[in-house]
Amino acid sequence: MTGALRIEGVAAEALARRFGTPLFVYSQAAILARLRRLRGGFSRPGTMVCYALKANPNRAVCGVLRQAGAGAEVVSGGELARALAAGFAPGKVVFTGVGKTGEEMALGLRQGILSFNVESGEELEALERTARRLRRRARICLRLNPDVRARTHPHVTTGRAENKFGVEESEALALAKKSRRSRWLDFQGLHCHIGSQIYELAPFQRAAAAVARALRKLEAAGLRISLIDMGGGIGVSYAGEKEIDPDELGKTMSRTFSPWPAARLLVEPGRYLSADCGTLLTAVLYRKRTSKRRFVIVDAAMNDFARPALYGAFHPILPARFRGGPCRRTDVVGPICESGDFLARQRPLQRLEQGDILALRMAGAYGFAMSSQYNSRPRAAEVLVEGRKARLVRRRETLSDIVRLEMP
Ligand SMILES: *Cc1c(COP(=O)(O)O)cnc(C)c1O
Repeated sequence: MTGALRIEGVAAEALARRFGTPLFVYSQAAILARLRRLRGGFSRPGTMVCYALKANPNRAVCGVLRQAGAGAEVVSGGELARALAAGFAPGKVVFTGVGKTGEEMALGLRQGILSFNVESGEELEALERTARRLRRRARICLRLNPDVRARTHPHVTTGRAENKFGVEESEALALAKKSRRSRWLDFQGLHCHIGSQIYELAPFQRAAAAVARALRKLEAAGLRISLIDMGGGIGVSYAGEKEIDPDELGKTMSRTFSPWPAARLLVEPGRYLSADCGTLLTAVLYRKRTSKRRFVIVDAAMNDFARPALYGAFHPILPARFRGGPCRRTDVVGPICESGDFLARQRPLQRLEQGDILALRMAGAYGFAMSSQYNSRPRAAEVLVEGRKARLVRRRETLSDIVRLEMP
């Protein structure tokens, strides 16, 4: 097979020529297709999809989702600022995280966000103090730690009792009752997020059951439930894994939460919405061989895309121009001074030439968002493609950006 890779209506090689490499390219159609697919599964009236910004906080990506009616989930003041800059209405923004500072709380309170997902008793006290000082009521959910295991990478599981996230059921009950005594706290319901990159329905079912159990107890204690936030974590297929069917997930949640028809259901996908839309384009710098391996050294590295180095993650990688011919096992590595700096290992790839463009697929989530300037490498540029149009949505950093904030 021969031919040229396209991203929507634009040739990948043309993008690399026009904007340079390494380059993150996002397809608007792919983002919207994912949103549509997920919404299709959640037929429960009033369900809101809140995009978890941390997966890809680029303003243009956020803008696509915001225009399509999504809300936002943020985990820091910086993400809150970015969500607002991208035009999300504060009433569609929820704020999670175990270490919200007073300053971050104040920003959310002044804006009047939909919910602070509170993760500890001390945080609740701090939020109450800040709300009282600003004379702004804080709308809250308590983050329940349901102690369920989600089979995923240990770094991204969050719903076990040994993880730092959320509070156990008994504490959620105590804090909810306590919040009722403050006129500055407005208790709405529960939040729960058990981890990321989950391929099975069962952990979500167990988490939903745990939330429902706690909701019944809260109701029995006289608390009114208006919000149920089931977090994100839906896995995407990087290496042919079977993805959860959003219809089944939606049905499970609808069934479990049917006793609370007036409560608003939220889901907070990050990866599910943004992984598939993204491609990282990188150029082949050099080729070399040792007695054991065949390497291509490309101009993207672990500072641009950390997932392979950080999690041993597999990402499909393909040439932007297919020449055909035999494939040979190749390690695709970056220029950084660490052996952990690889994008792909022992991958069957066609013969490659210097200057060839490679496309690393499924790079839209936790890609640029996790990038750094490690080895003093300027961060890559980002481009959004819509049909035949491509638009720069974050310029490439320059060498002066590297030293810009340093003091003499
Ligand atoms: C990270 C995170 C998400 C999104 O996780 P994905 O796996 O990208 O869907 C949603 N909610 C919370 C609280 C998170 O921390």
